[in-house]
Amino acid sequence: MITAVALPAGGGSATVRTMLEVRGDYVAGRFRLPERPDGEIVRDSPAERGRRIGVFPTSVAAADEAVAAARRAQPAWGRLTLAERAFALGRLKDVLGARTEDLARLVALEVGKAIWEARSEVAGLISKIDVTAQEASIEIAPRRPEGLSGATEWRPLGVVAVLGPFNLPLHLPHGQIMAALLAGNAVVFKPSELTPGTGQAYAEAMDAAGLPAGVFGMVQGEGASGARLVENRDVDGVLFTGSFATGRRILESTLHQPGKMVALEMGGKNAAVVLADADLERAAVEVAQGATLTTGQRCSATSRLIVERTVADALVDRVARMFREVRVGHPLAEDTYMGPLVSERARTRFLEALAAADAEPVVAGGALDLSPAGAYVAPSLRRITRRDRTSPYQQEELFGPDLAVYAVADLDEAIALANDTEYGLVASLFSTSRPGWDEFRTRVRAGVLHWNRATTGASGRLPFGGLGKSGNHRPAGVMMIRACAYPVAMLEDAGSPSRPPGFPGATRTS
Ligand code: NAD
Repeated sequence: MITAVALPAGGGSATVRTMLEVRGDYVAGRFRLPERPDGEIVRDSPAERGRRIGVFPTSVAAADEAVAAARRAQPAWGRLTLAERAFALGRLKDVLGARTEDLARLVALEVGKAIWEARSEVAGLISKIDVTAQEASIEIAPRRPEGLSGATEWRPLGVVAVLGPFNLPLHLPHGQIMAALLAGNAVVFKPSELTPGTGQAYAEAMDAAGLPAGVFGMVQGEGASGARLVENRDVDGVLFTGSFATGRRILESTLHQPGKMVALEMGGKNAAVVLADADLERAAVEVAQGATLTTGQRCSATSRLIVERTVADALVDRVARMFREVRVGHPLAEDTYMGPLVSERARTRFLEALAAADAEPVVAGGALDLSPAGAYVAPSLRRITRRDRTSPYQQEELFGPDLAVYAVADLDEAIALANDTEYGLVASLFSTSRPGWDEFRTRVRAGVLHWNRATTGASGRLPFGGLGKSGNHRPAGVMMIRACAYPVAMLEDAGSPSRPPGFPGATRTS
């Protein structure tokens, strides 16, 4: 059970009292508060000013202790077969199954994510375990080329650090943790400093699942704890999901450790392209949701809408109406579509970015004063009249519910504009033309492409990840397991040795 979360009788009201019993780091199979804390995370719900999730004392040294425990535990875990490891993780499914609603409510309060969305995040956790085991049995199965006395085998990296973002605080780290464990690694997880409560609840579920001590560890902390984990020489792999700025720091700090697998999932400046032949209502629904799910705080959020000029006004009108009408409110209210941003700080930064936007607002959006007060914003929509590659508004990830609209002449111009970004995560096309889709999917540079679907969609049965500043190595989706293991070439006994001409014992060719 999640410790001491008092939820409202009957659910859904804004009078929730929430307070976690803070349990500290999870090291060598037990929770413990740091003996000598060197920091603390004070986490308040962004949904209600003054509503405290908990105060989490932190110690950077805990990262090293968790890595040492993982190092001790890994050899025995790594020697198990994939089937044995999958079996050992089986209990986690029952534990998660019994806690889904508690976990969803905690995510809603801590992240500010609307409860319907938090529930769908939690619902995916259980199936992820079997899907990942199945993919592992394909992706890292030994391969024996025909006619060769040899094989490719995959070995666990050793100890893997998983660094989580705040926006999908269970789904994303859980996928990476499952892949790393199933591949035979021990894992140390550092949740985002914005979701320490959710991180603790996840570690409690792992604890209840009864894995061998040290195989999974969790340390609370801010960037300094993450940096300590990343730089630890006993960490063989880093699975990071977060911003480009942090990913870059991680790469720079590990340049002298080239053998370390540093797999990065970072941001996006994702475009939805709408052609004149598209079903406009459908496109508007998908685009409006793509820009506002998780209050715009998705790596895959639609932040650019590129539309053929002849239908631009009609499409903008529809999206603008939806933006004005979506229900923004307390994340635990059942009829809320969109909750607040993750923190007051995030809201200030988002509002500053909008204030600096070099574009004409159609729906101004901005701060929303609700009761109880929190980090609420309304979605906004702007038309770009002058394209500018140096404009932070047009080029950078804002991480809030805002859409910049560009009108273009045709598909060629749309593709050029979609590709005009340093990121390369996701792009969508809305069109009824298959040749149009064929053109789009061969020429747009992004790791995930959608046809008549929102940019925010993804499938756990396909790869996920992007190009450029969006990342490397695809530590998400089906290929994730490949970032958790290294291949070894086995050349096996091929019978009698060869003896080239002139080598003792070589047969003479007259
Ligand atoms: P962030 O970069 O601020 O933090 C991510 C994690 O890195 C946190 O746990 C943080 O404590 C840790 N960290 C900070 N400094 C560190 C350092 N120097 N060394 C090691 N770790 C450090 O990201 P965020 O704000 O939590 O998440 C939002 C970002 O994540 C957005 O850019 C979003 O696009 C991206 N994201 C990407 C994906 C994807 O799959 N590509 C998914 C979700 C989010």
